[in-house]
Amino acid sequence: MDIKIPDLGDFDNVEVIEILVKIGESIEENDNLISLETDKASIDVPATHAGIISSIHVSVGDKVSLGDLILSIKEVDNKSEKIKKTKNKSINKNMESATHTTDLLVLGAGPGGYTAAFRAADLGMKVTLVERWPVLGGVCLNVGCIPSKALLHAAKVIDDAAAMKDHGIKFTKPQIDPKALGAWKDSIIKKLTSGLEHLASQRKVNIVQGDGSFQSPNRIVLDNKDTIDFKQCILAVGSESASLPNLPIDERIMDSSMALELSSIPDSLLVVGGGIIGLEMACVYSALGTKVSIVELTETLMPGTDPDLVSPFYKIVKKRYENIYLKTKVTKIESLKAGIKVRFEREEGSTSEVFDRILIAIGRRSNAFDIGLKDAGIDLDAQGIVKVDKQMKTNKSHIFAIGDITGNPMLAHKATHQAKVAAEVAAGKKSAFDVRVIPSVAYTDPEIAWVGLTENEAKEFNIAYEKTKFPWSASGRSLTNSRDEGFTKLLFDKETGRVIGGGIVGSCAGDLISEIALAIEMGADAADIGMTIHPHPTLSETIAFAAEAQEGVLTDLYMPKK
Ligand SMILES: Cc1cc2nc3c(=O)[nH]c(=O)nc-3n(C[C@H](O)[C@H](O)[C@H](O)COP(=O)(O)OP(=O)(O)OC[C@H]3O[C@@H](n4cnc5c(N)ncnc54)[C@H](O)[C@@H]3O)c2cc1C
Repeated sequence: MDIKIPDLGDFDNVEVIEILVKIGESIEENDNLISLETDKASIDVPATHAGIISSIHVSVGDKVSLGDLILSIKEVDNKSEKIKKTKNKSINKNMESATHTTDLLVLGAGPGGYTAAFRAADLGMKVTLVERWPVLGGVCLNVGCIPSKALLHAAKVIDDAAAMKDHGIKFTKPQIDPKALGAWKDSIIKKLTSGLEHLASQRKVNIVQGDGSFQSPNRIVLDNKDTIDFKQCILAVGSESASLPNLPIDERIMDSSMALELSSIPDSLLVVGGGIIGLEMACVYSALGTKVSIVELTETLMPGTDPDLVSPFYKIVKKRYENIYLKTKVTKIESLKAGIKVRFEREEGSTSEVFDRILIAIGRRSNAFDIGLKDAGIDLDAQGIVKVDKQMKTNKSHIFAIGDITGNPMLAHKATHQAKVAAEVAAGKKSAFDVRVIPSVAYTDPEIAWVGLTENEAKEFNIAYEKTKFPWSASGRSLTNSRDEGFTKLLFDKETGRVIGGGIVGSCAGDLISEIALAIEMGADAADIGMTIHPHPTLSETIAFAAEAQEGVLTDLYMPKK
């Protein structure tokens, strides 16, 4: 069978810049075959059929157009061949090069690992990036940030459409095809992960697939077979979902990765754990029509977050979800034909309920336990957290650690910033992870975001602060969005007047919080923000209004300075 250049839109006569496959290789439908460079972007051309490549008809530098022959394949019907291929789907398992010595070995290709590898390569280092999964991107791209945000977008579209019924626009009940929705989500992941492969090949980063663990302070062994010697190493092995002991094996008991697969839409779902990941998935399934309940051990959802930030969200979901059990412990989970039976224990006594599915979202466990750190002489604590200094160095100065394995907050943007520092230090630069703040976001509805000092922390550590809060019920833009429950809060150092923290509840809070982060990093005070002209009508104005309230110059509300 022949595979030809498909319709690429307006492009004609475009240059082949990379051949991504070899003769004899078995490919699956949608695997990328070649990369083309247009004047606007580079495009990967995917396979239209699965099979084994028998001949390749283009070379790097050729100009191709619609219908030109790329390659020919022999179709295979052999299941085991397909599985073998799936295991090595995207990244090369290049064992000849795996036996060499590399300047820098990066273990794990999540946001921390691929960023470190790319930055180090840009600084001229010879880099080998080792990943056990057949794709780059780690948890964030494959089973974390990106798929969850795609599904949250779908949930928002459903909810926003339904909310318009009171404002003169009635939509009929949406028909949801979980398979098609899942395929759309997967196509976004594929676009991003194949983009990473392309970026890696442009930088000549050597990618090796394998499960790596230390054999000695300068050697990694892959899948207990081949070895790679390195001068320096950056550990970026990330984390995985924590589980409960003695769980029955039942596919109706999900972790976040299984929940994101969206195999079907259950009638009822219990989310065990009221943290950000569980609450985001609750938003998704609730919008898709599932009856959602949540159980949380502590007395509040999103434990640790300032109560005023959680309160508007809680008021909404309390009405929307079946039950929210706080201060409640799950003591038993049983697999029955009719569903998953869960026993709850709280002060008032114990009860049981049966759910179609349950999602265990009780936190993340570091993967650093599993990579033989003892053999490299690297210290890690009882939680599997690797201690690092400001240059991201472990107790062995040629080995760095970044991302989730360095502890909380376990966030992709922390991992990428640490990654750049580690790569720069490895390349001989005097960099340091010296940030004042790391923002946190729950992409729930409403979104909740905070950065810098929280009021919880201020009270715990006796830090003197002043606070202003601008309610979004007075924001023209929020009202035009048909929402009025949000607010923007700023915290100021009582002595210097500088912004030291902030929180936002409402649409796009996750995007808006960056302005407060920048204000803190720049040492801005209320006047710096208030005197910066913010466009009207926007949600970003609410940050300026909160700052003006602190200055006593706000006119959009009557909030005289005390
Ligand atoms: C459902 C969900 C939603 C999330 N949403 C957000 C969000 O919106 N924003 C945000 O900032 N964060 C979010 N996170 C957290 C974010 O995904 C992580 O903080 C981030 O991925 C950590 O990056 P990392 O590079 O440290 O590790 P990871 O992304 O975990 O990558 C580690 C990589 O190392 C590989 N690896 C592990 N062990 C080995 C080994 N021995 N040999 C070879 N390779 C190995 C793994 O296969 C993996 O690819 C979310 C997480 C989940 C689960």
